[in-house]
Amino acid sequence: MSEDDGKCSDSDEEYFVPPESKRVRLEDKYPRETWEEIIEKSDKGWSFTTIQSKHRKLSDRKEISRMKEYLKNDGSKIQKFNDINVGVLQEFLDMRSELEEIHDRDIVDSALKVADELGLTTFKASEAWLYRFKKNNGIVSRKINAVVTKAQLRNQPELNEVVDEFRGNMKTVIADNRLEKVFNADQTAIKQEMICGRTLALKGEKKIKAVVKRINATTHSYTVQVLISAAGKLVLPVMVVFCEPKRPACFEQQLLPFKNITAYSTTSGLMTSQLGITWLRDIYGPAAGENSILMVDSWTGYQQAIDQDNGSVQIHVLPPKSTSVAQPLDVYFNRPFKNFLRLLSCKIRRFFPDFDLSNRQGMATLIDITIGQFSAPVFNAMIQYSWYASGYLEEKPEEFNTPVAVCFDSIKIDSKCECDKRAFIKCAHCDTFFCFSHFVKDLHRCYV
Ligand SMILES: [Zn+2]
Ligand SMILES: [Zn+2]
Repeated sequence: MSEDDGKCSDSDEEYFVPPESKRVRLEDKYPRETWEEIIEKSDKGWSFTTIQSKHRKLSDRKEISRMKEYLKNDGSKIQKFNDINVGVLQEFLDMRSELEEIHDRDIVDSALKVADELGLTTFKASEAWLYRFKKNNGIVSRKINAVVTKAQLRNQPELNEVVDEFRGNMKTVIADNRLEKVFNADQTAIKQEMICGRTLALKGEKKIKAVVKRINATTHSYTVQVLISAAGKLVLPVMVVFCEPKRPACFEQQLLPFKNITAYSTTSGLMTSQLGITWLRDIYGPAAGENSILMVDSWTGYQQAIDQDNGSVQIHVLPPKSTSVAQPLDVYFNRPFKNFLRLLSCKIRRFFPDFDLSNRQGMATLIDITIGQFSAPVFNAMIQYSWYASGYLEEKPEEFNTPVAVCFDSIKIDSKCECDKRAFIKCAHCDTFFCFSHFVKDLHRCYV
Protein backbone atom coordinates (compact mmCIF):
# COMPACT_ATOMS: atom_id res chain seq x y z
CA MET A 1 0.00 0.00 0.00
CA SER A 2 1.41 3.43 -0.85
CA GLU A 3 1.80 6.05 1.85
CA ASP A 4 -0.54 8.56 0.25
CA ASP A 5 -3.37 6.10 -0.10
CA GLY A 6 -5.04 7.06 3.13
CA LYS A 7 -8.52 7.80 1.89
CA CYS A 8 -11.24 6.44 4.04
CA SER A 9 -13.02 4.12 1.65
CA ASP A 10 -14.45 1.06 3.36
CA SER A 11 -13.32 2.38 6.68
CA ASP A 12 -13.66 0.64 10.00
CA GLU A 13 -15.06 3.66 11.68
CA GLU A 14 -18.51 2.25 11.73
CA TYR A 15 -19.03 3.94 15.03
CA PHE A 16 -19.36 7.15 13.03
CA VAL A 17 -22.60 5.83 11.66
CA PRO A 18 -24.78 8.36 9.89
CA PRO A 19 -26.69 9.90 12.77
CA GLU A 20 -30.28 8.83 13.19
CA SER A 21 -32.83 11.58 12.87
CA LYS A 22 -33.28 11.80 16.65
CA ARG A 23 -29.58 12.25 17.21
CA VAL A 24 -29.34 14.96 14.60
CA ARG A 25 -31.88 16.94 16.48
CA LEU A 26 -30.13 16.48 19.82
CA GLU A 27 -26.80 17.32 18.32
CA ASP A 28 -28.23 20.35 16.60
CA LYS A 29 -29.30 21.61 19.97
CA TYR A 30 -26.04 21.12 21.83
CA PRO A 31 -22.52 19.88 21.14
CA ARG A 32 -21.33 16.65 22.83
CA GLU A 33 -19.39 18.51 25.54
CA THR A 34 -22.59 20.23 26.63
CA TRP A 35 -24.32 16.85 26.76
CA GLU A 36 -21.79 15.78 29.34
CA GLU A 37 -22.43 18.95 31.31
CA ILE A 38 -26.17 18.30 31.21
CA ILE A 39 -25.78 14.66 32.22
CA GLU A 40 -23.50 15.64 35.09
CA LYS A 41 -26.14 18.02 36.42
CA SER A 42 -28.81 15.40 36.09
CA ASP A 43 -26.62 12.84 37.87
CA LYS A 44 -26.04 15.34 40.68
CA GLY A 45 -29.81 15.30 41.22
CA TRP A 46 -30.70 18.63 39.65
CA SER A 47 -34.35 18.71 38.65
CA PHE A 48 -35.21 18.82 34.98
CA THR A 49 -36.68 22.31 35.30
CA THR A 50 -33.48 23.63 36.88
CA ILE A 51 -31.36 22.07 34.14
CA GLN A 52 -33.75 23.40 31.55
CA SER A 53 -33.39 26.91 32.93
CA LYS A 54 -29.66 26.71 32.10
CA HIS A 55 -30.11 24.87 28.81
CA ARG A 56 -33.20 26.32 27.28
CA LYS A 57 -33.19 24.22 24.14
CA LEU A 58 -34.04 21.09 26.15
CA SER A 59 -37.70 20.28 25.65
CA ASP A 60 -38.16 16.87 27.31
CA ARG A 61 -36.48 15.02 30.19
CA LYS A 62 -36.23 11.94 27.92
CA GLU A 63 -33.65 13.84 25.89
CA ILE A 64 -31.23 13.53 28.79
CA SER A 65 -31.58 9.75 28.96
CA ARG A 66 -31.13 9.57 25.19
CA MET A 67 -27.91 11.57 25.49
CA LYS A 68 -26.69 9.15 28.16
CA GLU A 69 -27.58 6.17 26.02
CA TYR A 70 -25.76 7.48 22.94
CA LEU A 71 -22.66 8.42 24.87
CA LYS A 72 -22.55 5.04 26.57
CA ASN A 73 -22.86 3.02 23.34
CA ASP A 74 -20.46 5.11 21.35
CA GLY A 75 -18.05 5.26 24.22
CA SER A 76 -17.74 1.52 24.65
CA LYS A 77 -17.28 1.00 20.95
CA ILE A 78 -14.64 3.69 20.63
CA GLN A 79 -12.91 2.18 23.65
CA LYS A 80 -12.79 -1.20 21.90
CA PHE A 81 -11.34 0.32 18.74
CA ASN A 82 -8.65 1.88 20.90
CA ASP A 83 -8.03 -1.49 22.54
CA ILE A 84 -7.42 -3.00 19.11
CA ASN A 85 -4.75 -0.42 18.42
CA VAL A 86 -3.11 -1.00 21.79
CA GLY A 87 -3.17 -4.79 21.35
CA VAL A 88 -1.76 -4.67 17.85
CA LEU A 89 0.98 -2.26 18.82
CA GLN A 90 1.98 -4.56 21.69
CA GLU A 91 2.23 -7.55 19.35
CA PHE A 92 4.17 -5.45 16.87
CA LEU A 93 6.69 -4.38 19.52
CA ASP A 94 7.02 -7.94 20.84
CA MET A 95 7.75 -9.25 17.37
CA ARG A 96 10.27 -6.53 16.61
CA SER A 97 12.06 -7.16 19.89
CA GLU A 98 12.51 -10.73 18.64
CA LEU A 99 13.81 -9.19 15.39
CA GLU A 100 11.05 -10.81 13.38
CA GLU A 101 10.26 -9.54 9.91
CA ILE A 102 6.86 -7.83 9.89
CA HIS A 103 4.71 -6.90 6.93
CA ASP A 104 1.36 -5.17 6.50
CA ARG A 105 -0.24 -8.59 6.34
CA ASP A 106 1.04 -9.47 9.82
CA ILE A 107 -0.37 -6.28 11.29
CA VAL A 108 -3.72 -7.02 9.67
CA ASP A 109 -3.63 -10.63 10.96
CA SER A 110 -2.84 -9.39 14.40
CA ALA A 111 -5.59 -6.75 14.29
CA LEU A 112 -8.21 -9.28 13.23
CA LYS A 113 -7.14 -11.60 16.01
CA VAL A 114 -7.34 -8.85 18.62
CA ALA A 115 -10.66 -7.60 17.23
CA ASP A 116 -12.09 -11.07 17.45
CA GLU A 117 -10.90 -11.44 21.02
CA LEU A 118 -12.68 -8.19 21.79
CA GLY A 119 -15.84 -9.33 20.07
CA LEU A 120 -15.67 -6.62 17.39
CA THR A 121 -16.78 -8.82 14.56
CA THR A 122 -17.52 -5.88 12.28
CA PHE A 123 -13.89 -4.76 12.26
CA LYS A 124 -12.27 -5.34 8.88
CA ALA A 125 -8.73 -3.99 9.28
CA SER A 126 -9.15 -2.00 6.06
CA GLU A 127 -6.32 -0.30 4.21
CA ALA A 128 -7.46 3.00 5.68
CA TRP A 129 -7.22 1.58 9.18
CA LEU A 130 -3.76 0.12 8.48
CA TYR A 131 -2.58 3.44 7.06
CA ARG A 132 -3.70 5.34 10.15
CA PHE A 133 -2.31 2.72 12.52
CA LYS A 134 1.13 2.93 10.95
CA LYS A 135 1.03 6.70 10.71
CA ASN A 136 -0.08 7.20 14.32
CA ASN A 137 2.62 4.89 15.63
CA GLY A 138 5.41 6.06 13.37
CA ILE A 139 5.71 2.67 11.68
CA VAL A 140 7.31 2.71 8.25
CA SER A 141 8.78 0.12 5.90
CA ARG A 142 12.56 -0.11 6.41
CA LYS A 143 15.16 -1.98 4.45
CA ILE A 144 16.70 -4.81 6.45
CA ASN A 145 20.45 -4.22 6.52
CA ALA A 146 21.57 -6.87 8.97
CA VAL A 147 20.26 -10.35 9.54
CA VAL A 148 20.83 -12.52 12.57
CA THR A 149 19.52 -15.98 13.24
CA LYS A 150 17.76 -16.91 16.46
CA ALA A 151 20.86 -18.89 17.30
CA GLN A 152 23.07 -15.84 16.85
CA LEU A 153 20.83 -14.07 19.27
CA ARG A 154 21.87 -16.81 21.67
CA ASN A 155 25.53 -16.32 20.77
CA GLN A 156 26.23 -19.05 18.25
CA PRO A 157 27.69 -17.27 15.25
CA GLU A 158 28.88 -20.51 13.61
CA LEU A 159 25.32 -21.63 12.91
CA ASN A 160 24.93 -19.04 10.16
CA GLU A 161 27.52 -20.77 8.01
CA VAL A 162 25.98 -24.18 8.57
CA VAL A 163 22.57 -22.89 7.52
CA ASP A 164 23.97 -21.17 4.45
CA GLU A 165 25.65 -24.37 3.41
CA PHE A 166 22.45 -26.37 3.91
CA ARG A 167 20.49 -23.83 1.88
CA GLY A 168 23.07 -23.94 -0.88
CA ASN A 169 22.81 -27.75 -1.07
CA MET A 170 19.04 -27.71 -1.04
CA LYS A 171 18.89 -25.12 -3.79
CA THR A 172 20.97 -27.35 -6.04
CA VAL A 173 18.72 -30.32 -5.24
CA ILE A 174 15.58 -28.27 -5.91
CA ALA A 175 16.98 -26.99 -9.20
CA ASP A 176 17.53 -30.59 -10.33
CA ASN A 177 14.02 -31.78 -9.43
CA ARG A 178 10.41 -30.89 -10.00
CA LEU A 179 8.99 -28.68 -7.24
CA GLU A 180 6.14 -31.19 -6.87
CA LYS A 181 8.69 -33.76 -5.70
CA VAL A 182 10.29 -31.62 -2.98
CA PHE A 183 8.64 -31.70 0.46
CA ASN A 184 8.90 -30.33 3.95
CA ALA A 185 7.23 -32.05 6.91
CA ASP A 186 7.00 -30.89 10.48
CA GLN A 187 5.00 -31.58 13.58
CA THR A 188 3.07 -28.85 15.31
CA ALA A 189 1.54 -29.10 18.75
CA ILE A 190 -1.98 -27.72 19.05
CA LYS A 191 -3.61 -27.00 22.38
CA GLN A 192 -6.77 -29.03 22.83
CA GLU A 193 -8.77 -25.99 23.79
CA MET A 194 -7.29 -22.81 22.43
CA ILE A 195 -7.82 -19.83 24.63
CA CYS A 196 -6.35 -16.52 23.64
CA GLY A 197 -4.57 -15.99 26.94
CA ARG A 198 -5.78 -12.43 27.44
CA THR A 199 -9.05 -10.77 28.19
CA LEU A 200 -10.31 -7.36 29.03
CA ALA A 201 -11.15 -7.17 32.72
CA LEU A 202 -11.61 -4.55 35.35
CA LYS A 203 -8.57 -2.90 36.83
CA GLY A 204 -7.85 -4.34 40.27
CA GLU A 205 -9.58 -7.65 39.60
CA LYS A 206 -7.27 -10.06 41.40
CA LYS A 207 -7.72 -13.31 39.54
CA ILE A 208 -8.54 -13.19 35.85
CA LYS A 209 -10.50 -16.29 34.96
CA ALA A 210 -11.86 -17.51 31.66
CA VAL A 211 -14.35 -20.26 31.09
CA VAL A 212 -13.34 -23.42 29.22
CA LYS A 213 -15.05 -26.76 28.84
CA ARG A 214 -12.26 -28.82 30.41
CA ILE A 215 -9.31 -27.58 32.41
CA ASN A 216 -6.92 -30.23 31.06
CA ALA A 217 -7.80 -29.30 27.55
CA THR A 218 -5.93 -26.00 27.76
CA THR A 219 -2.67 -27.68 28.72
CA HIS A 220 -2.88 -30.95 26.79
CA SER A 221 -1.88 -30.86 23.17
CA TYR A 222 -2.31 -32.96 20.12
CA THR A 223 0.15 -33.15 17.27
CA VAL A 224 -0.37 -32.44 13.61
CA GLN A 225 2.21 -33.66 11.10
CA VAL A 226 1.91 -31.27 8.16
CA LEU A 227 3.43 -31.99 4.75
CA ILE A 228 3.87 -29.32 2.06
CA SER A 229 5.55 -29.35 -1.34
CA ALA A 230 7.76 -26.68 -2.86
CA ALA A 231 5.10 -26.39 -5.56
CA GLY A 232 2.83 -24.96 -2.85
CA LYS A 233 0.61 -27.95 -2.17
CA LEU A 234 -0.55 -29.06 1.26
CA VAL A 235 -0.78 -32.84 1.11
CA LEU A 236 -3.94 -34.59 2.35
CA PRO A 237 -4.60 -36.47 4.53
CA VAL A 238 -2.59 -35.17 7.45
CA MET A 239 -1.48 -37.32 10.39
CA VAL A 240 -2.99 -36.19 13.68
CA VAL A 241 -1.90 -37.71 16.98
CA PHE A 242 -4.48 -37.30 19.71
CA CYS A 243 -3.75 -37.40 23.41
CA GLU A 244 -5.60 -40.46 24.72
CA PRO A 245 -4.51 -41.75 28.11
CA LYS A 246 -6.96 -44.59 27.49
CA ARG A 247 -7.83 -45.05 23.86
CA PRO A 248 -11.53 -45.89 23.61
CA ALA A 249 -12.78 -48.66 21.34
CA CYS A 250 -14.83 -46.16 19.34
CA PHE A 251 -11.77 -44.03 18.49
CA GLU A 252 -11.38 -45.00 14.85
CA GLN A 253 -15.10 -45.14 14.19
CA GLN A 254 -15.59 -41.66 15.64
CA LEU A 255 -12.85 -40.11 13.56
CA LEU A 256 -13.65 -41.84 10.29
CA PRO A 257 -15.82 -38.99 8.91
CA PHE A 258 -12.89 -36.56 9.09
CA LYS A 259 -11.39 -37.34 5.72
CA ASN A 260 -8.63 -34.72 5.77
CA ILE A 261 -6.90 -36.37 8.70
CA THR A 262 -5.60 -39.80 9.59
CA ALA A 263 -6.01 -40.14 13.32
CA TYR A 264 -3.63 -41.89 15.69
CA SER A 265 -3.26 -41.63 19.44
CA THR A 266 -0.60 -41.81 22.12
CA THR A 267 -0.92 -41.28 25.85
CA SER A 268 0.94 -37.97 25.55
CA GLY A 269 -0.43 -36.63 22.27
CA LEU A 270 3.17 -36.53 21.00
CA MET A 271 4.62 -38.41 18.04
CA THR A 272 6.63 -41.49 18.86
CA SER A 273 9.40 -42.83 16.66
CA GLN A 274 7.11 -45.75 15.83
CA LEU A 275 4.57 -43.25 14.50
CA GLY A 276 7.38 -41.57 12.57
CA ILE A 277 7.96 -44.87 10.78
CA THR A 278 4.23 -45.33 10.20
CA TRP A 279 3.95 -41.82 8.80
CA LEU A 280 6.82 -42.23 6.35
CA ARG A 281 5.53 -45.58 5.13
CA ASP A 282 1.75 -45.12 5.11
CA ILE A 283 1.16 -41.42 4.58
CA TYR A 284 4.23 -39.84 3.08
CA GLY A 285 5.15 -42.71 0.74
CA PRO A 286 1.86 -42.99 -1.16
CA ALA A 287 1.49 -39.20 -1.40
CA ALA A 288 5.02 -38.42 -2.54
CA GLY A 289 5.53 -41.31 -4.93
CA GLU A 290 8.88 -42.38 -6.40
CA ASN A 291 12.06 -40.31 -6.18
CA SER A 292 10.92 -37.68 -3.75
CA ILE A 293 12.96 -35.32 -1.63
CA LEU A 294 12.01 -34.66 1.97
CA MET A 295 13.31 -31.94 4.27
CA VAL A 296 12.78 -32.52 8.00
CA ASP A 297 14.20 -31.25 11.27
CA SER A 298 16.60 -33.24 13.41
CA TRP A 299 13.92 -34.98 15.50
CA THR A 300 15.29 -38.42 16.38
CA GLY A 301 12.05 -40.13 15.38
CA TYR A 302 12.77 -39.42 11.71
CA GLN A 303 16.21 -40.94 12.07
CA GLN A 304 14.70 -44.34 12.84
CA ALA A 305 12.24 -43.98 10.00
CA ILE A 306 15.10 -43.13 7.63
CA ASP A 307 17.07 -46.18 8.82
CA GLN A 308 14.09 -48.40 8.11
CA ASP A 309 13.47 -46.85 4.72
CA ASN A 310 15.02 -48.70 1.79
CA GLY A 311 16.44 -45.52 0.33
CA SER A 312 13.49 -44.62 -1.85
CA VAL A 313 13.27 -41.21 -0.20
CA GLN A 314 16.11 -38.70 -0.30
CA ILE A 315 16.02 -37.09 3.12
CA HIS A 316 17.67 -33.82 4.08
CA VAL A 317 17.89 -33.06 7.79
CA LEU A 318 17.96 -29.40 8.76
CA PRO A 319 20.87 -28.36 10.99
CA PRO A 320 19.88 -28.34 14.67
CA LYS A 321 18.32 -25.07 15.86
CA SER A 322 17.97 -23.73 12.34
CA THR A 323 14.26 -24.39 11.88
CA SER A 324 13.02 -20.91 12.75
CA VAL A 325 14.92 -19.46 9.81
CA ALA A 326 15.37 -22.39 7.45
CA GLN A 327 12.32 -24.64 7.71
CA PRO A 328 9.50 -23.46 5.41
CA LEU A 329 6.72 -24.68 7.72
CA ASP A 330 8.19 -22.75 10.65
CA VAL A 331 9.04 -19.67 8.65
CA TYR A 332 5.63 -18.99 7.25
CA PHE A 333 3.05 -21.76 7.51
CA ASN A 334 2.56 -22.47 11.21
CA ARG A 335 1.61 -18.97 12.28
CA PRO A 336 -1.26 -18.44 9.80
CA PHE A 337 -2.29 -22.02 10.51
CA LYS A 338 -2.62 -21.41 14.23
CA ASN A 339 -4.23 -18.01 13.62
CA PHE A 340 -6.89 -19.71 11.56
CA LEU A 341 -7.48 -22.42 14.15
CA ARG A 342 -7.71 -19.88 16.94
CA LEU A 343 -10.12 -17.65 15.05
CA LEU A 344 -12.25 -20.62 14.04
CA SER A 345 -12.48 -21.89 17.63
CA CYS A 346 -13.21 -18.42 19.03
CA LYS A 347 -15.99 -17.94 16.48
CA ILE A 348 -17.55 -21.31 17.18
CA ARG A 349 -17.26 -20.85 20.93
CA ARG A 350 -18.91 -17.45 20.77
CA PHE A 351 -21.74 -18.13 18.35
CA PHE A 352 -22.36 -21.84 18.84
CA PRO A 353 -21.53 -22.48 22.48
CA ASP A 354 -23.32 -25.84 22.48
CA PHE A 355 -20.81 -27.25 20.06
CA ASP A 356 -18.13 -28.86 22.24
CA LEU A 357 -14.70 -28.09 20.81
CA SER A 358 -12.72 -29.75 23.56
CA ASN A 359 -13.78 -33.34 22.96
CA ARG A 360 -12.30 -35.66 20.35
CA GLN A 361 -14.81 -34.86 17.61
CA GLY A 362 -14.67 -31.14 18.32
CA MET A 363 -10.91 -31.09 17.91
CA ALA A 364 -11.12 -33.26 14.83
CA THR A 365 -13.69 -30.88 13.34
CA LEU A 366 -11.44 -27.85 13.86
CA ILE A 367 -8.37 -29.48 12.42
CA ASP A 368 -10.23 -31.13 9.56
CA ILE A 369 -11.73 -27.81 8.45
CA THR A 370 -8.47 -25.93 8.79
CA ILE A 371 -6.46 -28.51 6.87
CA GLY A 372 -9.17 -28.69 4.22
CA GLN A 373 -9.21 -24.95 3.67
CA PHE A 374 -5.41 -24.61 3.65
CA SER A 375 -5.25 -27.20 0.89
CA ALA A 376 -7.20 -24.94 -1.48
CA PRO A 377 -5.27 -24.01 -4.64
CA VAL A 378 -5.80 -20.33 -3.81
CA PHE A 379 -3.20 -20.79 -1.03
CA ASN A 380 -0.51 -22.38 -3.18
CA ALA A 381 1.24 -19.03 -3.46
CA MET A 382 1.25 -18.68 0.34
CA ILE A 383 2.85 -22.10 0.78
CA GLN A 384 5.40 -21.35 -1.92
CA TYR A 385 6.14 -18.11 -0.13
CA SER A 386 7.29 -20.13 2.89
CA TRP A 387 9.94 -21.80 0.69
CA TYR A 388 10.89 -18.45 -0.78
CA ALA A 389 11.15 -16.77 2.63
CA SER A 390 13.33 -19.60 3.97
CA GLY A 391 15.78 -19.05 1.13
CA TYR A 392 15.11 -22.00 -1.19
CA LEU A 393 13.23 -20.42 -4.07
CA GLU A 394 14.65 -17.53 -6.07
CA GLU A 395 11.40 -16.29 -7.50
CA LYS A 396 8.97 -14.48 -5.25
CA PRO A 397 5.51 -16.03 -5.55
CA GLU A 398 2.57 -13.85 -6.55
CA GLU A 399 0.68 -11.87 -3.91
CA PHE A 400 -1.72 -13.91 -1.81
CA ASN A 401 -4.45 -13.51 0.77
CA THR A 402 -4.22 -15.42 4.03
CA PRO A 403 -6.80 -18.10 4.76
CA VAL A 404 -8.29 -15.89 7.48
CA ALA A 405 -8.80 -13.13 4.91
CA VAL A 406 -10.29 -15.45 2.29
CA CYS A 407 -12.53 -17.50 4.56
CA PHE A 408 -13.61 -14.98 7.20
CA ASP A 409 -12.82 -11.38 6.25
CA SER A 410 -14.70 -11.84 3.00
CA ILE A 411 -17.96 -12.21 4.93
CA LYS A 412 -20.10 -9.12 4.55
CA ILE A 413 -23.17 -8.21 6.51
CA ASP A 414 -25.44 -9.63 3.80
CA SER A 415 -23.39 -12.76 3.01
CA LYS A 416 -25.75 -15.71 3.16
CA CYS A 417 -25.62 -19.46 2.93
CA GLU A 418 -27.76 -21.11 0.26
CA CYS A 419 -30.29 -21.85 3.03
CA ASP A 420 -30.55 -18.09 3.67
CA LYS A 421 -28.85 -18.23 7.10
CA ARG A 422 -26.06 -15.79 7.86
CA ALA A 423 -22.67 -16.91 6.50
CA PHE A 424 -20.21 -18.45 8.95
CA ILE A 425 -17.38 -19.08 6.49
CA LYS A 426 -16.50 -18.85 2.83
CA CYS A 427 -15.09 -22.07 1.40
CA ALA A 428 -11.75 -21.31 -0.24
CA HIS A 429 -12.24 -24.18 -2.70
CA CYS A 430 -15.67 -23.40 -4.16
CA ASP A 431 -15.70 -19.71 -3.21
CA THR A 432 -19.16 -20.07 -1.64
CA PHE A 433 -20.58 -18.85 1.66
CA PHE A 434 -21.93 -21.40 4.15
CA CYS A 435 -23.75 -21.22 7.44
CA PHE A 436 -22.39 -23.03 10.49
CA SER A 437 -24.62 -26.03 10.11
CA HIS A 438 -24.05 -26.57 6.38
CA PHE A 439 -20.31 -26.14 6.65
CA VAL A 440 -19.18 -27.33 10.06
CA LYS A 441 -21.82 -29.86 11.04
CA ASP A 442 -22.16 -31.27 7.54
CA LEU A 443 -18.35 -31.30 7.11
CA HIS A 444 -18.58 -29.54 3.73
CA ARG A 445 -16.07 -31.10 1.40
CA CYS A 446 -16.39 -29.97 -2.22
CA TYR A 447 -12.83 -31.09 -3.06
CA VAL A 448 -11.49 -34.59 -3.52
ZN1 LIG B 1 -16.48 -25.75 -0.97
ZN1 LIG C 1 -26.95 -23.14 5.41
